[in-house]
Amino acid sequence: MPKARVLGGIALIAAAVAGCGINSTSPGVEGPIPSEPTLIDYVDPSQVSGLSTQTMSEGDLDTRHVHVVYPSLADAPLLNEKLRRTVNEELNRFTESTVPARSTGNPRDPGSGSVAGVLPPPEFNVEWQLSAVSPEAVGVRLRFGASTGSSWSEARTTIWYDRTSKRALDSTGLLKDKAALNTLAALVRVKLAQRGPETNPSSVRPDPKMFDSLGFNPRGELVVEFDDRQVGPESLGRVAVALSHAQADTLLSASGLRAQRAATKPAAAASAPKESIDAENTAKPRAASSLTGSVDCAKAKCVALTYDDGPGPETGRLLDILADHNARATFFCLGSNAAAHPELLQRMRNEGHLAANHTWSHRDLTAMSPIEIADQLVRTQREITHAIGQVPTLMRPPYGATDTQVTSIAGTLGLAVIRWNVDTQDERDADPRAIADRTVSRAVPGAIILLHDVHGATVDATPEILRRLTAEGYTFVTVPELYGARGALAGRTYDSASTSSALHRQAMP
Ligand code: ZN
Repeated sequence: MPKARVLGGIALIAAAVAGCGINSTSPGVEGPIPSEPTLIDYVDPSQVSGLSTQTMSEGDLDTRHVHVVYPSLADAPLLNEKLRRTVNEELNRFTESTVPARSTGNPRDPGSGSVAGVLPPPEFNVEWQLSAVSPEAVGVRLRFGASTGSSWSEARTTIWYDRTSKRALDSTGLLKDKAALNTLAALVRVKLAQRGPETNPSSVRPDPKMFDSLGFNPRGELVVEFDDRQVGPESLGRVAVALSHAQADTLLSASGLRAQRAATKPAAAASAPKESIDAENTAKPRAASSLTGSVDCAKAKCVALTYDDGPGPETGRLLDILADHNARATFFCLGSNAAAHPELLQRMRNEGHLAANHTWSHRDLTAMSPIEIADQLVRTQREITHAIGQVPTLMRPPYGATDTQVTSIAGTLGLAVIRWNVDTQDERDADPRAIADRTVSRAVPGAIILLHDVHGATVDATPEILRRLTAEGYTFVTVPELYGARGALAGRTYDSASTSSALHRQAMP
């Protein structure tokens, strides 16, 4: 089984990435080294009731790549407000400090992926994890990534919510007082000095901004995380230290002790690891609409509606609308959102739609290393497969940005690269009627139409899109059905029903 071996190789690479802290962000993927004290055991978001996600995006622009997702909790409006303010402050800082890349003149041209020698546009990306959830406390860790030019750096902030006092807190709100912060800084300096000369302990100050990401490992030890370049050179990436339970206990406020209890797990309750990617992917069927074969697009006037960036708060409503019109669609899901809402992926599968891979956290893949690209795709494959019991066969690169490296890695993972040839520009518009007008006027037989199910106005526009295109004789199918019985082939790039892209042709010998 050569294919399985290749897949296993990529999976091993991805597991190594997740484990060594370069990219330690996936719920359930952490912890091949359980004794590493600075690893936080993140909560599986699908187990948290009242959890939703908010998405902010500048859409698939060429000039600046912005994608922000953060959670909200039904019972914690003050937490939601603090998260919203925190991400907006960081986004504003990024926007003010960057100059948009020169537009190609057609910012939505999916063919304008990366070009050798040209730097990708400035990028800002926020993803989230739950550091702890209990009836007493909730911890939300935000990871801010930003690039200008060739360098990528990350910052981490953890916001806490005390369910007893109903207050949202910065991380230093877990500490008793200013004296506790001074003591914490001194203890951290000692810990960093023990690591050897690569860190710079003298840069540690008792500044709340420096101690803005406090959490706990499963043993209840206090984990202090720093931003890239804060206490050492960029090459170190995430630097974190853990303080013993006894040390932490003398520093924590009542809220801090509640947060610590929320994160501490009895040894027996440690969550079982999910099945290995090999077992999941080799044992499960390839994903396809359950209604594949019911329409012959060589004869029928077919169109493929595609909805990106979800699943999110509007996806359930969209599924209701599609069901009312007997329409099927392809959903390019973020792995991080799929992890939070597996029930929505199950609805997609049960209702004849197709769930596909839109990477874990919506980074521009053309700015990433092969190991990072594989990690983004593999973790998402795993999450979707876990939800629907089928292995996705399609991926869409965020911002439409792809190159021969991305296509090649996708191919190795059994994925076809799907872009689009009708851009509705839905995310820039709050007016459902305008979105519907553009979609209907630009539709052609065989089109792959780009829409976003995280955008409320797009969902509002969908009934009219379906009504008007149905009146024009269109049938709504999933993407592979556009290509007849052979479907979409792994390692190829598709922009429309009839053409594989120029990029693909360049990639072929
Ligand atoms: Zn997207």
